[in-house]
Amino acid sequence: MAHYVIVGGGLAAGTAVETLRDEGFDGDVTVVAAEQHPPYQRPPLSKGYLQGEEGTDAVILHPADWYRDGRAELRTGVAAIALDPAAHRLELEDGSSLTYDALLLATGSSPRRLPLEGADLAGVRMLRTIDDSDALAAELRGGGKRLVLIGSGWIGMEVAATARSLGNEVTVLERDPIPLAAAVGDEMGAVFRDLHLEKGVDLRPSVQVERITGSDRAEAVVVGGEEVPADLVVIGVGAVPNVSLAEDAGITVDNGIRTGSALRTSASDVYAAGDVANAYHPVIQRHLRSEHWDNALKAGAVVARSMLGMPASHDSIPYFYTDQFDLGMELSGYPPLMKDAQLVTRGDVAGREFIAFWHDGKRVVGAMNVNVWDVQDDLQKLIRDAKPVSPDELRDESVDLERLAAS
Ligand code: FAD
Repeated sequence: MAHYVIVGGGLAAGTAVETLRDEGFDGDVTVVAAEQHPPYQRPPLSKGYLQGEEGTDAVILHPADWYRDGRAELRTGVAAIALDPAAHRLELEDGSSLTYDALLLATGSSPRRLPLEGADLAGVRMLRTIDDSDALAAELRGGGKRLVLIGSGWIGMEVAATARSLGNEVTVLERDPIPLAAAVGDEMGAVFRDLHLEKGVDLRPSVQVERITGSDRAEAVVVGGEEVPADLVVIGVGAVPNVSLAEDAGITVDNGIRTGSALRTSASDVYAAGDVANAYHPVIQRHLRSEHWDNALKAGAVVARSMLGMPASHDSIPYFYTDQFDLGMELSGYPPLMKDAQLVTRGDVAGREFIAFWHDGKRVVGAMNVNVWDVQDDLQKLIRDAKPVSPDELRDESVDLERLAAS
């Protein structure tokens, strides 16, 4: 009987198991996950789960029983440490090994570490896992703490919003002039900046963090010679793909594990999906690595079909969402094409109820709806069909979006 092995305990791994069984795979599946939990999704960890509004059921995809019920053997709390693609063998840290017919690497990414003096003091945290979120929640839920965030990426800004909503004093230290500008540009980054300033977050842009000070625990973060007092420090300066297993096995790695659109790696019978995969995107004809929830979900399904020998291509438009205070946002688009595109907005930007389009001179290559709902299908259709459309039509609210997408 065929044996498929999945390394990873995130959304890509969980979705792959689900799809293998939905597609009728009747062989054996083993999931090897370094964390103690069954596969889970991470977005709530900086939002509702951290806040205390959502429980583990919003995070864990399926309880352990679901896997035990003939779907997969779950080997949680044990990391895979070596892979021999020629022998089709995987070694685990507990000394055991598994042979496979097909192997999925869904090892995700880990928070980037800052080589900063004081970064290993107690009270300095990063956020990736349920356990990280639990530990952070225990400190923030009561309110009244001084939280200093280093970095203003998506996770930093979400934690800032949640911590502030829980009644903490929040300072964000950021190297760039405008938060999130790397992802959405200066003008849209300013929308998030203004929201946080209005809600009382102390945003300090264009600063270089020098060190974290404290004796037993972090007490302050030093920037420009000034000490910013802290009860708690969270470092959120991006993530790096967990490629070491693949790299040590001689599999091609280049900003993640390089795959084709069917998510096959350079080693036969080895596949990669989710944050760790730098997959060829057939529509824009270049490799893309996407660290987003939707990418793990879609790629998890595509890779399962690919492992089963079915036609499979990971060709969806990258999609991302965030919730911060009373702002909800969805963004679809191809980041490499959005970089040089013109920004066009429709609706009330100052009132934070609008759609932003990235227009490349002919067509829409990215679109973001902010506190405007049920438009993603139309926005994705506009992007997918790549139909010529003018900035004026996009801007003009009297031009029906659904009709524009359908025309
Ligand atoms: P991961 O979720 O990283 O899972 C990989 C798993 O593999 C980990 O559990 C890891 O321990 C395990 N593993 C690694 N190496 C080994 C090994 N050698 N052996 C065994 N196991 C191993 N995206 C959005 O689009 N919107 C959001 O609002 C959003 N919010 C987020 C909030 C937080 C706090 C975080 C951390 C991420 C957020 N993301 C969001 C990103 C999204 O969660 C990721 O893109 C997604 O988790 C990627 O899933 P994955 O399955 O590829 O990898």
